Amino acid sequence: MIAKNFEQVHRHIVGAAERVGRDPGDVRLVAVTKEHDTDTIAEGLRAGAKVLGENKIQDAQGKIETLGHDGMEWHFIGHLQKNKVKFIFDLFDLIHSVDSAALAEAIHEKAQARGTCMPILLQVNVSGEASKFGMDPDDAPEVIHRLASLEGVKIKGLMTIPPFDADPEKSRPYYVRLRELRDSCAKLAFPNVSLDELSMGMSNDYEVAIEEGATLVRVGTALFGPRPSTK
Ligand SMILES: *Cc1c(COP(=O)(O)O)cnc(C)c1O
Repeated sequence: MIAKNFEQVHRHIVGAAERVGRDPGDVRLVAVTKEHDTDTIAEGLRAGAKVLGENKIQDAQGKIETLGHDGMEWHFIGHLQKNKVKFIFDLFDLIHSVDSAALAEAIHEKAQARGTCMPILLQVNVSGEASKFGMDPDDAPEVIHRLASLEGVKIKGLMTIPPFDADPEKSRPYYVRLRELRDSCAKLAFPNVSLDELSMGMSNDYEVAIEEGATLVRVGTALFGPRPSTK
């Protein structure tokens, strides 16, 4: 079942990339394993998962202790509280969800104390939905400018979560907006900043996201089935 799902999602990723003349190899699948146990995740790894996405520090700790890091990356995709920042360095290879300059500065400080640097994406609220985390798109250039010189964080790109809609086409304008914001920020050519990554697209709309430039798609349900909490 899970292996079949991976095959199907992979086919859809290739199809979406090819429709718009992109190299499918430029799109990475983040298999979102939140709420799933290590047996299920191990099945995902056997099916070819290379990048795993978790949204809670505490849940991730146990899973990563069990499964390790060999041959895979763990990405953090949830809301990160400042008092949890100290845990991320031993766990994650990329934080998708840095939603404020203050959070990035907290990561920078802890990273510096450890003599390391954490790759991050800036989460932008392109829909303006009040319930969503993420910075205002208008603030992004200023935030990037402020963070560019910090040695403990390395900005790799942008991430967004649009309002959920069963119709994937409803997501397209938000993904276009994130790509355009990325392009305009990239033109400002901040030193030490690369904006190559666009983390956008979930189970219901990752093909649209790829058509609009996603390099990281965060897919859970389409790979592992419904999560325990939604069953
Ligand atoms: C849960 C989650 C996903 C995956 O959602 P699915 O609809 O199951 O694919 C993607 N991104 C974030 C930030 C999530 O929390």
